[in-house]
Amino acid sequence: MKAVRFHQHGGPEVLVYEDAPEPLLAPGEVLVRIRACALNRIDVWGRQGRPGLTIPLPHICGSDVAGEIVSSAGVEVAPGRRVMLQPGVSCGRCVACLSGKDNECPRFEVLGHRTTSGGYAEYIKVPAQNLVSIPDEISFVKAAAFPLTFLTAWHMLMTRAQLKRGDDVLVLAAGSGVGQAAIQIAFLQGARVFATAGTPDAIERARSLGAYEVIDHYRQEIGGEIDRMTNQRGVDVVIEHVGKATWSESIRSLAPGGRLVTCGATTGADAALDLRTLFTRQLSISGSYLGSKGELMRVARFFFTGQLDPVIDRTFPLAEAAAAHRHLEHGKPFGKVVLEV
Ligand code: ZN
Repeated sequence: MKAVRFHQHGGPEVLVYEDAPEPLLAPGEVLVRIRACALNRIDVWGRQGRPGLTIPLPHICGSDVAGEIVSSAGVEVAPGRRVMLQPGVSCGRCVACLSGKDNECPRFEVLGHRTTSGGYAEYIKVPAQNLVSIPDEISFVKAAAFPLTFLTAWHMLMTRAQLKRGDDVLVLAAGSGVGQAAIQIAFLQGARVFATAGTPDAIERARSLGAYEVIDHYRQEIGGEIDRMTNQRGVDVVIEHVGKATWSESIRSLAPGGRLVTCGATTGADAALDLRTLFTRQLSISGSYLGSKGELMRVARFFFTGQLDPVIDRTFPLAEAAAAHRHLEHGKPFGKVVLEV
């Protein structure tokens, strides 16, 4: 089959479109013909490599996949059925898995990250429990753009931050995959949503997704603007994934008792925190990593009824994955960048 692999870590140029062996199925696994695969930051981290992250090379990345079922081994499925894939793979037998917290499984892996082969290819194999059927009216591109970011945003807001109707929520970087998903979910759940964005177009688009007020994160001070817009109170929940560049402003934006949830560190991972602020203001800080299979099925209901709609910035053919990575890293996309296979 054709696939995009990297044989060494580095810049986008290490992504090579070439022939690769087709996946061999183990019992319980399903072969899926890939039609679209969305990019995520995790693809860039894997491609670049980092200390402590061991990836067997050559490697196929890509965590967000939609396509059609081809065949299976030792498990009954319907060939031809249109599906999107749950990006988290877990053991299915441990306490975490059996408690519906499979993203806390000690053997949890994300498709296309580390040892699991991903979606920059014509075919992928996954455990049967990772299949989620999609309705005919939803395109493969939209379906590929949905799972990772909407599941991440749902787990951050609903499970980690325990979002309540009427909460004030600040979403950092409205145009990012998680940002556009978090604005839509928080709005749908009855929150008042504040967001940040960097261009007039992105500010307008954030509003159209449900943001009540949008802060220009290059020209305005986030914490000061949140103070002003909330009558000096601050917000109940901050959805953070930018990291070092916004961390202190994110903490400053929290109301007493506020909850900050983070799932990323795009601008840097070393963030400082004054413990006196943490305890006197009774703040909560939570880490969040993807979400469970059950949560994906729950949030997907809103996708299938049209209440949530992943924003597509641009599509590229599979063979142009390197250009797609450059666009994700430097093109300031609003929404998802998707490979069509
Ligand atoms: Zn497990």
